[in-house]
Amino acid sequence: MSYLESHPDENGYFGRFGGAFIPPVLEQPFAEITKAYGELKNSPKFLEDLKYVRKHYQGRPTPISYAKNLSEYCGGAKIYLKREDLNHTGAHKLNHCMAEVILAKHLGKTKVIAETGAGQHGVALATAAAYFGLECEIHMGEVDIVKEHPNVIRMKILGAKVIPVSHGLKTLKEAVDSAFDSYIAQVDSSIYCIGSVVGPHPFPLMVRDFQSVVGHESKEQFFEHEDSLPDAIVACVGGGSNSMGIFSAFIDDKEVALYGVEPMGRGEKLGDHAASLTYGEEGVMHGFNSIMLKDDKGEAAPVYSIGSGIDYPSVGPEHAHLMSIGRTKVGLCNDDEAVEAFYTLSQLEGIIPALESAHAVAYAMKLAKTLGSDKTILVNLSGRGDKDVDFVVENYPIPNAKF
Ligand SMILES: *Cc1c(COP(=O)(O)O)cnc(C)c1O
Repeated sequence: MSYLESHPDENGYFGRFGGAFIPPVLEQPFAEITKAYGELKNSPKFLEDLKYVRKHYQGRPTPISYAKNLSEYCGGAKIYLKREDLNHTGAHKLNHCMAEVILAKHLGKTKVIAETGAGQHGVALATAAAYFGLECEIHMGEVDIVKEHPNVIRMKILGAKVIPVSHGLKTLKEAVDSAFDSYIAQVDSSIYCIGSVVGPHPFPLMVRDFQSVVGHESKEQFFEHEDSLPDAIVACVGGGSNSMGIFSAFIDDKEVALYGVEPMGRGEKLGDHAASLTYGEEGVMHGFNSIMLKDDKGEAAPVYSIGSGIDYPSVGPEHAHLMSIGRTKVGLCNDDEAVEAFYTLSQLEGIIPALESAHAVAYAMKLAKTLGSDKTILVNLSGRGDKDVDFVVENYPIPNAKF
């Protein structure tokens, strides 16, 4: 049996990671979602519907571009980019949001609910809800609402209701709690749409499957370029959906090295980074067992990264598993390296990456230098940097052109 067929097990475990740690009121609705997904994933109509929106609305397949100038600049392996930045709404997130909303409709729900931190998942879900004619409710901390104002406006324009969360630190963790409470109160008419390969079973499985289109396309497209598999694949890891998406098609190809890149932020001190796999310990948060960063009370630690989509104190359980069995490796990239890669990719290739994706680019640049020119690296460029340009130029001066 292939890796994907045998993982997770029927209880949602990848090795010892995963599961569903949920309150009793949610057991029935989650069982319903699991059953519906089990049917849908083999339904030709569902697969056709998804294929249709991906091709005619979302802009798939996204291409793979050879980054010739960047490769020559680094000196070493050839670097290729899977262009998820070219998706509608600017990142890979619609890959799972469109599918989650089709699932919601299949279950007869009229509303989708989610939390958002930087607003990227909120915008993608609001887009999918608009397209499929469902109501959308997004919970967001008041601190994030001020910081991420343009995304708040976008969600509202798209017809979503944005609910400000004003307790605790007023950021992502409180938004998750608030969204969960709201979901429990409207469980008959709504579904909670998780934004990454995290949360209780079956979400890590579903979101991986929905993102696996990135890996499937990549495998075919890479052969067109090189007539071989890539030697290494590099992707940034927040919750881990874009990385699981591209890794999924290559897990059984043991000769392909898989690198998940975690944000080192400002440094090694707890609170200054979000490198959960590197510095975390096993624990349960947000309904699943994985590797998480804990404070001295054993609670989720505060985290930080310049890439606001990757500052999460835990990580998808499948990443914890794949690392523990040695199938994936973890790379690190700090804020400064990410910003340098942001400018370098912009100036050498004409592609402004999202700061999250710039972490993967930065790591690939380091890796390329250690490999011969007969080797190849495929980077998942998870999103574009339009959302980040104002912040970057205000804080980091634009460098002189590199050529
Ligand atoms: C949200 C986001 C991420 C982080 O999410 P994953 O689930 O780890 O993929 C990465 N890149 C971009 C551009 C994002 O918007």
